[in-house]
Parts: sequence; structure tokens; C-alpha cells
Amino acid sequence: LSQRMSERSVDVIKFLMKEGQMMKAGDIIDADLAELIAVEFGHTVKRVSESDVEIGIFNRDDEEGEMLPRPPVVTIMGHVDHGKTSLLDAIRHANVVAGEAGGITQHIGAYQVEQNGSKITFIDTPGHAAFTAMRARGAQVTDIAILVVAADDSVMPQTIESINHAKAAGVPIIVAINKVDKPSANPQKVRTELLQHEVFVESMGGEVLDVEVSAKTGAGLDKLLEAIVLQAEILDLRANPNRTAEGSVVEAKLDRGRGSVATVLVQKGTLRPGQIIVAGDQWGRVRALVNDRGDHIKEAGPATPVEILGLQGTPQAGDRFAVAENEGRAREIAEYRQRLTREKAVARHAGQRGSLEQMMTQLTAAGVKEFPLVIKGDVQGSIEAIAGALDKISTGEVRARIVHSGAGAITESDISLAEASNAAIIGFNVRANPQARDAAERAGIEIRYYNIIYDLTDDVKAAMSGLLPPER
Ligand code: GDP
Repeated sequence: LSQRMSERSVDVIKFLMKEGQMMKAGDIIDADLAELIAVEFGHTVKRVSESDVEIGIFNRDDEEGEMLPRPPVVTIMGHVDHGKTSLLDAIRHANVVAGEAGGITQHIGAYQVEQNGSKITFIDTPGHAAFTAMRARGAQVTDIAILVVAADDSVMPQTIESINHAKAAGVPIIVAINKVDKPSANPQKVRTELLQHEVFVESMGGEVLDVEVSAKTGAGLDKLLEAIVLQAEILDLRANPNRTAEGSVVEAKLDRGRGSVATVLVQKGTLRPGQIIVAGDQWGRVRALVNDRGDHIKEAGPATPVEILGLQGTPQAGDRFAVAENEGRAREIAEYRQRLTREKAVARHAGQRGSLEQMMTQLTAAGVKEFPLVIKGDVQGSIEAIAGALDKISTGEVRARIVHSGAGAITESDISLAEASNAAIIGFNVRANPQARDAAERAGIEIRYYNIIYDLTDDVKAAMSGLLPPER
């Protein structure tokens, strides 16, 4: 405080002594005392709440009339070995215009292709882990999820996880039935199996688009892209390109030659070189914008993935970024956030947050009347029994919502889904694996273990009654 007032700290300490407060430099004082001191030293005090620091930079709303159509952002999910990476590669290569300057695409974490004049942006990290990790950090970038299922295999655990992750995020699914070139392929079996997981494809009377593809031969890729364009039209995706840019970090690294390099997805507005941005708890002046073909570009509009050079440090995937009006503001916000990050780390270390009760209190404060849960059990049968029991204790006012359930140990993926959905995790006759335990600790999420259904429903009931408005 003395620094900010350009006063010597001994003078401030002397003043405090006169007031009967024995303190030394570096001690922490509250806002009231700080105001008293500042006024005494002839300064005008303006009280702002902590989060006011960020106001005016993030989340500025747009007028309806300013919104223009923008390309969809697509993430590819599905079980391991069902062909996610192959599909991403096949789409990328099929769409590189022959002979175009710098025609070879670079891996920057996301890329854009064109289908009959419509642009589509693909997130280049397949799988729901990255998708949900980003969501857990507050970034909702994906508009459409492609669910890849191998036609020579069946619906597998990660297929189901992907479905639940997409549903939890409220993102529509397009099913890509892959490997149809294989003699053992049976696409119809995949469609039927998906029914059991409430994915109803068109030919089965539902509304989910499904396309048969082969990442190997390239068959059906055009149709898949068309389905994406169609789904995007239904979603009527719009953004205002004529404002300062905001978006999310997709990937970031420290490059030996180029310094800190962050790939961002512009979600609103247009980003240009020379602008000053804040990304997570980092800031910097945009020295250059590089697209997925390695070209330096002069501007990046909504849904455009682009590498930013010039940040002072490396932000994290899922961090939000925005343009700041000047260096001072950018620095102030970055420092504010670095402090928050440090404080959170300290709080986590002290084992705060995450108990069922605390979580309910938070949800109640937010006016939520649903209790999200991730449930892992030893066998499918016990999970169904738990789901049934939870259904019974749900009332019209508050209900348990199972974001994801499955048989087997609690994994990292369960933790990130719980974090993104603000859900509690319940293990019934199963434990968390070591990675999941670490992840839960890092995220400050509590895992509850049970082996009697009655105990479980009792606890959930108690927690839920905290969600009910107090009786009048
Ligand atoms: P991911 O784990 O989901 O990313 O799957 P990959 O893309 O790594 O593919 C797993 C394996 O399936 C690889 O050996 C691919 O060559 C193969 N594969 C992927 N797509 C196809 C396809 O359409 N047809 C055939 N025959 N093989 C495929």
C-alpha cells in the first residue's frame, strides 16, 4: 500500500502506531484499515470488488444485429483405435489444395478446412480427455462432436464416455461409423448398439446424423463434412467479427527459437498483430499471427485457429484470452490472475473445497436444483440399482442427475468430467486409480466411497435437502 501511495513504509507504520496498531512492513491489513490509511495520506479511494479488475475485458455482450455466421468448431471423440487420429489426418490431407503456397499443414492444435465454400474448424487433439479438460478450465469451444465408432468393433467404454461427455456439454453428436472398408464391418450393429446409449441415428428414427466412412480409403469423408455443415446450419452459429477479440487457448508451448507460442481459437471479434492480449495469467503484445499452413496472417476472425507469438509466458490449454486496451491493464489482469492461481494452489493444499456439503452450498447459491453425479460401480447391475434408488429420492424440486456412470475403477477422465460438470464422484465397491487420485487432489474434488446403497442414498438425500429452499 505504501508503494502504491508513493509513501515511505515507515511513515505508514508510524501512523498505524499512533492509531494503536503495532505492525511491520509486509503484514496483511483489511480493506477498511487500508481505506483509512489511504485517506489519511491524502488519496481518494475507490472500492472495487476483486473481479471488477477483469470487467470490461471479458464477456462483453454483443448486439443481435452485429452477429454474423461463423464456422463450426468440431472435436473428434471415440474409443481408442477406432480411428480418430486417422480420420483427422484424412480430412486434413484431402483438403489441402494442391500447389497452394505452404500447402502442407502444420500441427498447431487445430486446423481449418473448406467444404463447398463453408469453413470447418477441427480441434486436432482427438478424444474427450482434452475436450473435458478444456471445459473444466471454463472454455466451451466445441460446437459439434464427431463420435467415431469402428464398424468392425462395437460400442466400447470410451465410446460411452464420449457420449456422456458430449451430452454433459450440451454438444450435438454426429456419428462417424469408421473402417467400413473392412470385410468384417457391420455398420448396422453399431447403430443398434448406440440405441442403448440414447444415441438415436436418423435411420433408426432419431435425429442424430450418421455417416459411414473409411479413414483409410477416404470413402464417405465428403458426406461427413456435409453432415457437419448441415448440423452447423441447424445450430445457426454466429459471432460478431467487428469487435476486439476473445477466445480460448487450445495449446501452448515454449519454443526455443520463437519463445512462447500459444494456439488460440478466436471465438468473438477479430485478432490482429500489434494488439495486447491477456491469456489466462499471461499477457503480451501479439508479435505475429501464424495460421495452420504456417503463413503469417494479418487478422484472425471467429472460429479461426491461429498461433500467437509474443506472449510473456505460456498460458494453459483452456485458458480464456482477450484483447486489453493497454499494457498496464493487461499486466494488472495477468498479475491479478497469477495471484488467484497461487491462492487456489494454497487453498487446495489446505484441502479446501470439494466436500459434498460445500458443493451443495455452492450449487444452492447458484440457484441450481439438480445434483450432478458421476457414479462408478463394480458391476452394471449395482449402478442400475443406484440409479433407481436415486430416482426415488428425487423430488419435483431437486433431483440427482447422473452425468456419467460405468463399471470399473474411477479414472482421470471421470475426474475431469466431474470438474467440468461440477459433479460429485461416487465409487460403489470400486476405488480410484492413483492417477485419478492425484487428479482429484489437484482439482480439489472429493471422491466418496460406498459399499451399501442405503448409505449412499442417505448421504445424497441429506446433501440434496440442502439444495431445497428453506421451508416457509
Ligand atoms: P485412434 O486411437 O482412435 O486415434 O485410432 P487410429 O487413428 O490410431 O487408428 C487405429 C488403427 O486403425 C490404425 O492402425 C489405423 O491404421 C486403423 N484404421 C483407422 N481408420 C481405418 C479405416 O477406415 N479402415 C481401416 N481398415 N483401418 C483403419
